[in-house]
Amino acid sequence: MKTRIFFALAIAASRVSSAQDAPTDASARLIATLDARSTRYADLAKQIWSFAEVGYQEVKSSALLATELETAGFKVTRGVVGIPTAFVAEFGSGKPVIGILGEFDALPGLSQDATPLQKAIIANAAGHGCGHNLFGVGSAAAAIAVKEWMTANRITGTLRFYGTPAEEGGSGKVYMVRDGLFRDVDAVIAWHPGDVNDISGTSSQGNITGKFRFRGISAHAAASPERGRSALDGVEAMNAIVNMMREHVPQESRIHYVITSGGRAPNVVPDFAEVYYYARHNDMKIVDDVWDRIVKAANGAAMGTGTTVELEITGSVYPILLNETLAKVMYQRLQRVGGVRYTAEEEAFAKTIQQSLGPQVKSLDSASAIMPWYFGGSSAGSTDVADVSWAVPTVQIGAATWVPGTAAHSWQAVAASGMSIGAKGMMVAAKTMALTATDLFQNPATVAAAKAELEQRRGKDFVYRTRLGDRKPALDYRK
Ligand SMILES: [Zn+2]
Ligand SMILES: [Zn+2]
Repeated sequence: MKTRIFFALAIAASRVSSAQDAPTDASARLIATLDARSTRYADLAKQIWSFAEVGYQEVKSSALLATELETAGFKVTRGVVGIPTAFVAEFGSGKPVIGILGEFDALPGLSQDATPLQKAIIANAAGHGCGHNLFGVGSAAAAIAVKEWMTANRITGTLRFYGTPAEEGGSGKVYMVRDGLFRDVDAVIAWHPGDVNDISGTSSQGNITGKFRFRGISAHAAASPERGRSALDGVEAMNAIVNMMREHVPQESRIHYVITSGGRAPNVVPDFAEVYYYARHNDMKIVDDVWDRIVKAANGAAMGTGTTVELEITGSVYPILLNETLAKVMYQRLQRVGGVRYTAEEEAFAKTIQQSLGPQVKSLDSASAIMPWYFGGSSAGSTDVADVSWAVPTVQIGAATWVPGTAAHSWQAVAASGMSIGAKGMMVAAKTMALTATDLFQNPATVAAAKAELEQRRGKDFVYRTRLGDRKPALDYRK
């Protein structure tokens, strides 16, 4: 999530822009079409929210979206790149090829009802704390509206919806990029749920993630400890080394871990232990370097504790490569669409949520505003949209699906993603994406300029290489 300091300006900017932009008939029609279907799409988003399926297990969520697009006249290919829940839905033919991304995976342990007070539906079950239930449906809504616009106006070109699983740590899109699914695409449009409406004008963190599995020898912890070698010692020694290493890595690096297996009983020396690591930085070379040092820490820890260690790399993404040409187009469209207006009931819900967020700096009015233009710098999170952005000019907005002040991956985000505030923000995104896509179909010069910008930013010698190498998708990373 980005740090935003322009709030007061944002409200002023959105008021001015909505007065200035005279809607064209075509965009007004597109917006009206989407408005007329908002109940339908809110219902689909609620269904995916209720499924709350985690990475690579999004069987029902993926099927629901694929069927919706198929019914609307898209040709759907399911189970692409060896991932059962990944799919591509296509309409039209020839150039340009415009892609729209949709995500739908939930996060473990974030179960929460659509209520403004914290209450899990099922303790420790998964929940949509990143709003990907809205992400997938909002993108499908945009794709369907654009397809109808293409038919009505005899627009040539290809519109493609990518159903992209396991964004949260599974790097689903990376396999789709690696295996060439974006090779012929001219521009990609996406969005992300958030607590404001803005152009996603900052880059993100590259990352490498993996599970270190230590193996030792079990023994009675009191009667024959000298015969045991603790796999948990291996994990703890590794963590101790890495925690000292933190002082000696570039300032903006992030390293985090959870111990996913640490033995079962204190009186049995554990012969197996596992620690799950993430390393991040907005420069991929630094991520690579920090990761190599983490691997050395693991090997050193294994040597010192008489254990062995194996590493499985489970994910890796690049930092986002921004595209200003496309961002300017999409930002204009976002201003045209405008933000989210709460009903009295939604306002009451939002106020209760805000009481749980601590000292407030964000007014509820910011949900209806559009943040001012910004471009450059880097936000703290990572996304696999980034790998797409090095292959194809890519653009995203954020939409206010959550109560202002809400952080991603929180119970408050799950709550709003499951009710009307989330659904309204989703429609802001759907309309903005649809309008942006119609712009790109009609303006080949914009698409050409975006491609030239990508090539210039990427540099002549750029070769895409993912740390995932040629591994098969880590379909069981959430098991
Ligand atoms: Zn997330
Ligand atoms: Zn997300």
